[in-house]
Amino acid sequence: MSNPEDPNNNIPPQDDGPMLPPGQSSSAPLNREPDANSNSENGAQANPQNMGQNEENADKNLNLENSLTTDQNSSIQNANSNQTEKIYEMQWDCPQCGTKKLLGKTHRFCPACGNPQDPTKRYFPTEEEKVAVQDHKFVGADRICGYCNAANSAVTGYCTQCGGPMDGTEQVKLAHETPEPSAPEPEKKSMRAGLKWGLIGGAAAIIGFCGVFMFWTKTVQLEVTSQKWVRTIDIEQKRAVSDSSWCPAPSGAYNITQQREQNGTEQVADGQTCRTVNKDRGDGTFSQSQECSTKYKSVPVYDQKCYYTIDRWVVQRTLTSEGTAMMPVTWPSVPYLQSGNSLGSQREGTRTETYIVNYKVDDGSDNSCKYKSDNLWKAQTVGSKWQGEMGVLSSSIDCDELQKL
Ligand SMILES: [Zn+2]
Ligand SMILES: [Zn+2]
Repeated sequence: MSNPEDPNNNIPPQDDGPMLPPGQSSSAPLNREPDANSNSENGAQANPQNMGQNEENADKNLNLENSLTTDQNSSIQNANSNQTEKIYEMQWDCPQCGTKKLLGKTHRFCPACGNPQDPTKRYFPTEEEKVAVQDHKFVGADRICGYCNAANSAVTGYCTQCGGPMDGTEQVKLAHETPEPSAPEPEKKSMRAGLKWGLIGGAAAIIGFCGVFMFWTKTVQLEVTSQKWVRTIDIEQKRAVSDSSWCPAPSGAYNITQQREQNGTEQVADGQTCRTVNKDRGDGTFSQSQECSTKYKSVPVYDQKCYYTIDRWVVQRTLTSEGTAMMPVTWPSVPYLQSGNSLGSQREGTRTETYIVNYKVDDGSDNSCKYKSDNLWKAQTVGSKWQGEMGVLSSSIDCDELQKL
């Protein structure tokens, strides 16, 4: 018992302050003298042990209850979150006399029959019936007396009901807010989870299939049936071509026109979705605040698109030269080209060379290898036999790892 409060005083001052109708307390905002204000008004008993539950005053509260739903004055700034939070009274029903919608902070006892409030039966009032609390200093959730089960303010050293010590006592259970109408959330979640696992499974299957496709091979014997080379040269010509791109047009473009076109979309803030969150503070009051999150919508983005004509080198035709291994490998002969840089001028473009070997596979199928140079191709003369790996599903030969038989 290390409580600093005077142990002889079984009735330490409740921090709840005077039982005042919320609309009146602004005249004495920080008045914590028990019943100081209400007594001067109605001359009721001065004993704070009775929690100020004289019936006159209580009736007044009940009567005022309906007219006190305005909450303009009750908003307080929450220093921690800097968010506007309003404090209201929880409600409870008296199980003894049946009086309903008693106030959690104001009515620690039933004003009709004197029955003490059961803090576990507190509930959130409806929006229409909520009663604002003003100038109430929150000292923590109520604690339950271990001897008589009465709820006491968190700063009380001794039970106001039975005088028992209040150290090591339990906090009252907090009321849970009734769930928002968006109830089918769990279902959505499980659907999303299902989708997620489906995607993971699908990806694994694809990777697995690719693995099988690439690495499931068999050893085969190949007999070369023909050997061939192909060389090509592109002939390019400078031409006026139509094209378009996001402005500005590239240098050299002419006959430029532009028009506004959609260039993708972007996410822009589109107001907020807010919900009201009620939190039981455990001392007969609850806080109400707004939790808001920004909504976004997708809107089209427009840009200027340029349409123009531009002179470019384009492939006019492709010259090809090909032959067997018996013939010398040569480039196709390039005819006379109209050199220059004006429209109609010609030039040589890309050159390619391909070296091809065709095989009869020992399983009866035909197959082939293509090489970019003649290094591996040269030795694969017609009639020679080779061993290599062939994909079971892809049927592609590992052309760089052939062994001569
Ligand atoms: Zn009652
Ligand atoms: Zn007690």
